[in-house]
Amino acid sequence: MDKASVIELLYLLASVCFIMGIRGLTHPRTAVRGNAIGALGMLIAVVATLLHQDVIEFTWIIVGLVVGSLIGAVLAVRVRMTAMPQMVALLNGFGGAASVLVAGAELLREPPPPLGDVAVATYASAVIGSVTFWGSLLAFAKLEEYKAFRKPIRYPYLQPINALLGLGALALTVWGVMEPNSIAAYWLVVLIASVLGVTLVNPIGGADMPVVIALLNSYSGLAAAATGFVLGNSVLIISGSLVGASGIILTNIMCKAMNRSMTNVLFGVLQPGEDAPKQDEVYKTVKSASAEEVAMLFDSASRVVIVPGYGMAVAQAQHAVRDMYHLLESRGIEVLFAIHPVAGRMPGHMNVLLAEAEIPYDKLKEMDEINPVFAETDVAVVLGANDVINPLAKTDPQSPIAGMPILEVGKARTVVVIKRSLSPGFAQIPNPLFAAENTLMFFADGKKAVLDLIAALKE
Ligand code: NDP
Repeated sequence: MDKASVIELLYLLASVCFIMGIRGLTHPRTAVRGNAIGALGMLIAVVATLLHQDVIEFTWIIVGLVVGSLIGAVLAVRVRMTAMPQMVALLNGFGGAASVLVAGAELLREPPPPLGDVAVATYASAVIGSVTFWGSLLAFAKLEEYKAFRKPIRYPYLQPINALLGLGALALTVWGVMEPNSIAAYWLVVLIASVLGVTLVNPIGGADMPVVIALLNSYSGLAAAATGFVLGNSVLIISGSLVGASGIILTNIMCKAMNRSMTNVLFGVLQPGEDAPKQDEVYKTVKSASAEEVAMLFDSASRVVIVPGYGMAVAQAQHAVRDMYHLLESRGIEVLFAIHPVAGRMPGHMNVLLAEAEIPYDKLKEMDEINPVFAETDVAVVLGANDVINPLAKTDPQSPIAGMPILEVGKARTVVVIKRSLSPGFAQIPNPLFAAENTLMFFADGKKAVLDLIAALKE
């Protein structure tokens, strides 16, 4: 068998690993193995590529491998679990940038024949990769809450300007495809698409950010697939398509979870209106409770639903929650967990944390399943969740979370909300549920609150 065939066979093996890896990721029990299989696939793909006859020197490849691995290892160890979306945004962005650079380098090395599919793929890499890179960098800055990027930059004719940039990139693409020798056309497309990446993501914010990250993830895959066509590299085409398709599926799931259409997320940004409720008015009737008072509520409870949110992740309270779950169950109380699809800061965030604490998976209930149960729940314990239980999503059409389905915790007999203060959540809006008649606020750090509750229960 010649070298080229060996490489193609290894690429096929790597692709099978990617698909099996994704399959493994569909369930928490098999997720770790799925991840390992995916990583093995990537290793096989990298080794196969290094065997390629076009690789004439290894020095720079080794330098790249060492530097990249070092940066990756440090980031992987240091990144906070709650900062995963930012990390994913950066990885998406670098994927997009790599596609632009590789396709551009190919153009310098060997311009494709005019009007050919390779010419089209080259320019597709330029457009999608540039939008992904700059859009992702801006998404990163927004999620990191850098001051300058907290609010969108406002200017008139936002959508017409985007449309013009899109048309400009398209026109230059046509020129580039007809004249693939023109390097200028390529870099002009890159420039225009870079501006488009920024202007597209600029107005998006608040609760729509997870959708944007998922979409940019999909774009990074499409850019890689296009570059795969430029290089004639089958594993890049397959892995890029897998990322592109799974990113789009995830975007769709997130849009459904937020009850928004994709166009609405991308082009119809909502901001709190002038008559949006003010925090002081909303919180006039807030009542707070101590650990002992909350523990007393459990004495007469037969069903407790725990609603985790971003605050549980910040407090790393999942292990304490598991201990409280066991304690309550040992007293004959049924304990369930209500999982909102965008709770936390990444899709599946709560599932991952609760699985890490070994809470049985069948205790985790999706929103549609748990919402009817709240009316028959004695105590709903909200642990660091805010936006995902905010009734304004239903009552204020100007709210940044308008239309997003929420966990209807207010229907429980008593609601206990554990958080440190009355600060808003990600969408920066007050939450009338905190002042509802049947709500008690338990102000404390999530982990400390649960540990105090356990102590009070044992007394
Ligand atoms: P929110 O961001 O709405 O609220 C989290 C709450 O947790 C805050 O009000 C905060 O209040 C509290 N909190 C923070 N630290 C602690 C702590 N140590 N102990 C106790 N409480 C704490 O979270 P939700 O999960 O309800 O909603 C997620 C939001 O994030 C949605 O708007 C969603 O759209 C968005 N988002 C989701 C992503 C995803 O993919 N899941 C990605 C990006 C954004 P206080 O400071 O008073 O303690």
